[in-house]
Amino acid sequence: MSVRMRHTKGHTANRRSHHALKAPRLSACQDCGALHLRHRMCGTCGKYNGKQIVDVIAKIEKKTQRIKAKAKALGKEVEPDKKEKKEKPLSAKALSKK
Ligand SMILES: [Zn+2]
Repeated sequence: MSVRMRHTKGHTANRRSHHALKAPRLSACQDCGALHLRHRMCGTCGKYNGKQIVDVIAKIEKKTQRIKAKAKALGKEVEPDKKEKKEKPLSAKALSKK
């Protein structure tokens, strides 16, 4: 960049004075009290304005079933209870790599 096009430090600082990030405005859920973004569904209970939008429990169950099915498909080594707790995050990473 040539000297002719260069801004002063003050000019740059003035422009950047509007670049600061604002903290997200959160409100408490009517039903469970967890914080969520305004005009958005509560991620904890799946409700918005008192109405059930997403069945969160069913979603979690489905996800765990999917993880178990994937582990089974790869190999039956993950089945015992002790290994499941330790290897769940590891197996998920291994799946994404393959
Ligand atoms: Zn909630």
